[in-house]
Amino acid sequence: MAVYQGKMYNLPFNMNTFYQLWQVKTPQEAKQKIMEQRQAIVRQPKNLEDQAISLVGRDVYNVLIKGYTEKQWGRSCRELPAEIIRRLPVRFTFDNNYFNDPYQGIPEGGYTSLITNLLEGVQCHLNVDFLKERETLSKLANNIVFTGPIDAFFDYCYGALEYRSVRFEKEVLDCENYQGVAVVNYTDRCVPYTRIIEHKHFEYGTQPKTVISREYPEEWKRGAEPYYPINDAKNSELYQKYERLAQELGNVHFCGRLATYKYYDMDRVVDEALSVVSKLNV
Ligand code: UDP
Repeated sequence: MAVYQGKMYNLPFNMNTFYQLWQVKTPQEAKQKIMEQRQAIVRQPKNLEDQAISLVGRDVYNVLIKGYTEKQWGRSCRELPAEIIRRLPVRFTFDNNYFNDPYQGIPEGGYTSLITNLLEGVQCHLNVDFLKERETLSKLANNIVFTGPIDAFFDYCYGALEYRSVRFEKEVLDCENYQGVAVVNYTDRCVPYTRIIEHKHFEYGTQPKTVISREYPEEWKRGAEPYYPINDAKNSELYQKYERLAQELGNVHFCGRLATYKYYDMDRVVDEALSVVSKLNV
């Protein structure tokens, strides 16, 4: 769900959203509205603003995209790449599901238990900075799968890539059910957080209390935790230079959002991990 100026809207954009916004009841009416708002249709939108308006029209852009995106990325929608918004589906059906895939879900018990099970019987050292001990650690293995930031791996030799970071503010509330759904996005620019996650909705239990997290986007600085790559032209060019260095290393395999500087969803993360591992000589 999304909240804008106190009103709630369904996400991702679908017939429910268009009804809430314009009271249109049929796909034809919704398409007509969007057509009217597209102005001159930009054939190959070069930035996020053009892409969003050409996909869903100016109203949806102003209510549900502009404020959220500028908070999330700390940049104007005109400076951001069109690809970011192509992630979000647009549907002319009354279907609030996030993804169009035939199956969607999260692992039972969450990702922590999935990873715990995967690592069963595997020797594992936590709280070790690979980069600080790379000489000793590299001698231990024939293959290294590196999932940290690629620019850090190469000691920032071409300069630092930019990332967005997030600060989570957690609160335990004395109620069973706070917002009725796992994620509520706050799309007003003046609300400092982008969304509130109520974790128990990912796997509903009988606890009398609930835990919520507010997400405050922040610019990443060295030493902070990077979350999102910023795939604009400048950073993509810099990444390609690091990628060339990476390709020269036979036994180090770069994997995941930070090491490949890509904005991956979990399904693509899993797919990439399986494909990297299948190519290893183990
Ligand atoms: N977005 C938006 N309004 C919303 C939710 C998302 O404009 O209410 C845009 C925003 O630019 C965001 C992108 O869609 O960065 C992808 O959002 P998603 O929630 O899929 O990203 P996540 O942070 O979960 O990776």
